[in-house]
Amino acid sequence: MKPRTLLLVFASIVSACAVGMAMAVKSAFPEADSERVVIAPDIVGVNTGHAMAYLIRAHDEVILIDAGDDPAGRALLTELARQGQSAHAVRHILITHGHSDHVAAIPQFPDATTHVADADHQLLRGDRLPLAALPRLLGHLHPQQTFPAHVEPTLPGALLTFGGRTFEVIATPGHTPGACMYRLGKLLFSGDSLERRGDELGPAPVLTSDDPRMAIRALERLRDMPFVGVADGHTGYTPDGRVRFERWLTAHPTPDARQ
Ligand SMILES: [Zn+2]
Repeated sequence: MKPRTLLLVFASIVSACAVGMAMAVKSAFPEADSERVVIAPDIVGVNTGHAMAYLIRAHDEVILIDAGDDPAGRALLTELARQGQSAHAVRHILITHGHSDHVAAIPQFPDATTHVADADHQLLRGDRLPLAALPRLLGHLHPQQTFPAHVEPTLPGALLTFGGRTFEVIATPGHTPGACMYRLGKLLFSGDSLERRGDELGPAPVLTSDDPRMAIRALERLRDMPFVGVADGHTGYTPDGRVRFERWLTAHPTPDARQ
């Protein structure tokens, strides 16, 4: 084969790989329904780029669920301004897991305490990369380190009360070792551990999780949880999240079917 032909073949393979990779990333990280979702008058979700983050007003302070994928925190700061608040109103950031697309804007909130499981603290600081293929690839392409000013470790089953709002920590390791959800009354903030796929709510795709089997086993503990709506880390708010989760359980009745 002539060198020029070889080069063309090589270029075709590289571009096919790039397109394939882009499609894999797109299907692994589904798009948000909308740029802003009002779940309740004091609970708003914003699309930070490719991940959702949620603001909860509690008296004169604001609690965030995750900090999104934009290091400048533009969508979050815009939403705070819309509510007549500044970055200083954010006192607590509850992290669902340490992937870089959920923690990037933490430094924009200097008065906040960041609550993250010990097992994900290194991930958040960029001291280690995820094991899962796609987040690992993104970590290589866009190395990122996040250093929160104040950190508190979240503990499984803990009840965290801020400004009169109580969040239950539900440990769901698997997507990352320290992945967890936060339940506020009947509303479940699920991060990437439970997300919408068509008519169902199920685990994140295999290529995005460190230990996909463990992630699926962790969902068992949701059976007895009194939740109705789910606010996830990418698609947004699903008012009938419980119904869709049970639909997923029915469609995958045995542990083997859930792989
Ligand atoms: Zn993730």
